[in-house]
Amino acid sequence: MNKILFLVLLPCYLISCSDSDSTDEETTTTTTSVDISTVVQSVFDADNGVTVNVEGETITINSTGLPDHKTPYWDIEGMEHELYEPFPTYIINDTDAYDDDAEELSRLIDTDEEGNTIITYQNNMNMEMIAFDYSMEIPTNPTEAENKEETDLGLIGMALNGVPIYNDSEGRAVLGVVAMSTFDTAGAHPGPNSDYHYHTAAQLSIYAEDDGSTYPTVNDSNLIGFLRDGFPIYGRQEADGSYPDDLDENGGHIAATTEFTDGIYHYHCSSENYLDTGWYIMKAGAYHGTPGPSSGN
Ligand SMILES: [Zn+2]
Ligand SMILES: [Zn+2]
Repeated sequence: MNKILFLVLLPCYLISCSDSDSTDEETTTTTTSVDISTVVQSVFDADNGVTVNVEGETITINSTGLPDHKTPYWDIEGMEHELYEPFPTYIINDTDAYDDDAEELSRLIDTDEEGNTIITYQNNMNMEMIAFDYSMEIPTNPTEAENKEETDLGLIGMALNGVPIYNDSEGRAVLGVVAMSTFDTAGAHPGPNSDYHYHTAAQLSIYAEDDGSTYPTVNDSNLIGFLRDGFPIYGRQEADGSYPDDLDENGGHIAATTEFTDGIYHYHCSSENYLDTGWYIMKAGAYHGTPGPSSGN
């Protein structure tokens, strides 16, 4: 733990050096407050119906929560939507993760022609996803909270396409492989309220070139969206393609990003292969800042 704390301090120190002549090491994250409003206004996807309004020190983001990319959940009332695709099939390299749920999952696990153990993901929870009227309020200048609040069920952030980001819980339990077998390729599914949401980074990016139907992040440095505390969340990589090794216990650190070149506190998707499933959780644990209000489902 001491080693982690030390690594977290390093980027703060570098930023304070470049900002002034002062070598005062007492500079903390709270002094590096960044106005995010210009970036927020330019990055959310208006084409997918996301609106951004800045008033005073509050930014309000509204969306329907429906994705702009392919998913089996576009199979609305049997009609084939243009963004419909079948559920994906994945090769399982480590079957240990599935032992606990072997009985429930046996109907999903099979062997392909090359002898690989494969799992066919499928809808076994909620058939549909529906539009909501999501609203998320974030501060123009997010700051570190003194007492870090744990993320909870429901919307903890919003991706740039307006789809809610959820943490690593499903209902009142930690996300398990049975619930994950309902994920689409984007690492998302609808919840009990037909509320479509991301839990993890996508596994594949196979549509990026043919129809522009891209997932928020695969294994890259993309800006995914913003959490309710106003801090941005990125893919697993830094802009230079490296993997951050100084993330704090909330999955973030201060460093320059493509959108915030002077540096800002930001989260990254976890780089831990979750339950050996090949999925990477977007965000677990606590907020770095203070979460603002949200509503919609
Ligand atoms: Zn879920
Ligand atoms: Zn970073």
